[in-house]
Amino acid sequence: MTALTSTSDWSRILTHGDVVTLRGRLHCPLIVPGDDGYDDARRVWNGMIDRRPAAIVRAAGIADVLAALRFGRERDLRIAVRGGGHNVAGNGTVDGGLVIDLGAMRSVTVDPAAQRVYVGPGATLADLDRETVAFGFAVPAGVFSPTGVAGLTLGGGVGWLTRRYGLSIDNLLSADVVTADGRLVHTSQDEEADLFWGIRGGGGNFGIVTSFEFRAHPLGPTVLAGAAFYRQARWAEALRFYAGWAPQLPDDLTTIVSFVTPPPGWVPEELRHQTLMVVGFAWAGRDAVDAEPLLAPLRAFGPPDFEIVEPTRWVDWQSSLDETMPKGVRAYWKNASFDRLDEATIETIINGASRIPSTRTGVDIHQLGGAFARVPEEATAFPNRTARYWLNIYAVWDDPAGDESGRSWARELHSKMRPHGAAGLYVNFLGAEDGDVESRGHALTAYGADKLAQLVALKDRYDPDNVFRLNHNIPPSR
Ligand SMILES: Cc1cc2nc3c(=O)[nH]c(=O)nc-3n(C[C@H](O)[C@H](O)[C@H](O)COP(=O)(O)OP(=O)(O)OC[C@H]3O[C@@H](n4cnc5c(N)ncnc54)[C@H](O)[C@@H]3O)c2cc1C
Repeated sequence: MTALTSTSDWSRILTHGDVVTLRGRLHCPLIVPGDDGYDDARRVWNGMIDRRPAAIVRAAGIADVLAALRFGRERDLRIAVRGGGHNVAGNGTVDGGLVIDLGAMRSVTVDPAAQRVYVGPGATLADLDRETVAFGFAVPAGVFSPTGVAGLTLGGGVGWLTRRYGLSIDNLLSADVVTADGRLVHTSQDEEADLFWGIRGGGGNFGIVTSFEFRAHPLGPTVLAGAAFYRQARWAEALRFYAGWAPQLPDDLTTIVSFVTPPPGWVPEELRHQTLMVVGFAWAGRDAVDAEPLLAPLRAFGPPDFEIVEPTRWVDWQSSLDETMPKGVRAYWKNASFDRLDEATIETIINGASRIPSTRTGVDIHQLGGAFARVPEEATAFPNRTARYWLNIYAVWDDPAGDESGRSWARELHSKMRPHGAAGLYVNFLGAEDGDVESRGHALTAYGADKLAQLVALKDRYDPDNVFRLNHNIPPSR
């Protein structure tokens, strides 16, 4: 790999003539080292990722994507594809290579009569929610509004509607994909169905998606959502209660348990600046009144040290966590799936949570089941539909001095969870060392041998030269 350490040596990779050639083929900005805005353009969400691309193409449309891809292949450049730039492993950028940045292609078009939504590859969840909610709809996605729809969807897409409507990929109806050989392919259950299978969970391995078509569901504009908060001394009893309560809930209610320091405005003074256990929930049913008896045991248990239970604007709920992890924080994530919240698992999670090293760091337990579990395992590339829970272990901090403690805390909790874990990993919640092309073990762990073999066969067909390798890579067979 060639790293650019200063702006003076970028011309080792691209000559002035190369830049002129590429610029002449594009209809959009091209940013190279030394240009105004280069440092801003090369940054991604994870502040630990400090890479210097040789060129950043800010694509305005498919023509630019095709031109950039062709140029990158001609010059044998490493190519990074960027949607929202939120990838924890930093795969949306590359040292000394070419970034195809799709951030300007962020259109969201709703067809209310057909309940369809057409989304550009640079759209964020905020863009998606804003447009869909205007028509009384939502598309299942994640819980942080600046996250890119593209990367989130290609890896899976878990959030507050997962149990009601499944992952984002379970609501994907079709996509347009620019393949490694420069074709634009429309893919769905009926057209290039194998490719459609692969992009639902296989990440950006098979091409550059330039448009997503989603099924939309009636929701909002307000939803009943909220959270119950518990101090550390009560975590064990609260998590034991949750373990008995959550499995009985209907699909309309999705819960996520977090061990975090909530933003100061969320809780009263006496609960601020400490890690709390937070049982968050969102109701996707028709009538909020139906949720009240289901929530009553949670509200009565203990009762919580504090609670928020109220109708909330969907777009506000979807952006309520944004301030906890702004762009530029340093991050290292791990995840595990598991089937039982038994005593041993509870003890392991609580031990880990009680040693959280910084205020932005946390642990989330995503409750699965429902619509997520009803999708047959073989229907998509996404692994392990039978898992009941995912544990997302997210070390997040500001000061580089915290790098070692952040990483080692996440690794330690992850390794302690191993005996309790189920098969499969969620690639979107993986940090750097698990996500680059040099470390391939994650693909086998994530997908399992059978699914990985299918994915490799698909990679051989659509990207035999591994042009799209800066992702949670499925290496081709040769
Ligand atoms: C603060 C935060 C909160 C998160 N919350 C959630 C959550 O609630 N639920 C959830 O499921 N995930 C969540 N994630 C994880 C998120 O899904 C992944 O980080 C995802 O990769 C982000 O997508 P992106 O487009 O923003 O990232 P990018 O860094 O732009 O892209 C990530 C990778 O996706 C591929 N890619 C992106 N766009 C395209 C495209 N158009 N065509 C082909 N390949 C493409 C590329 O391989 C790229 O390297 C969160 C991440 C962060 C940082």
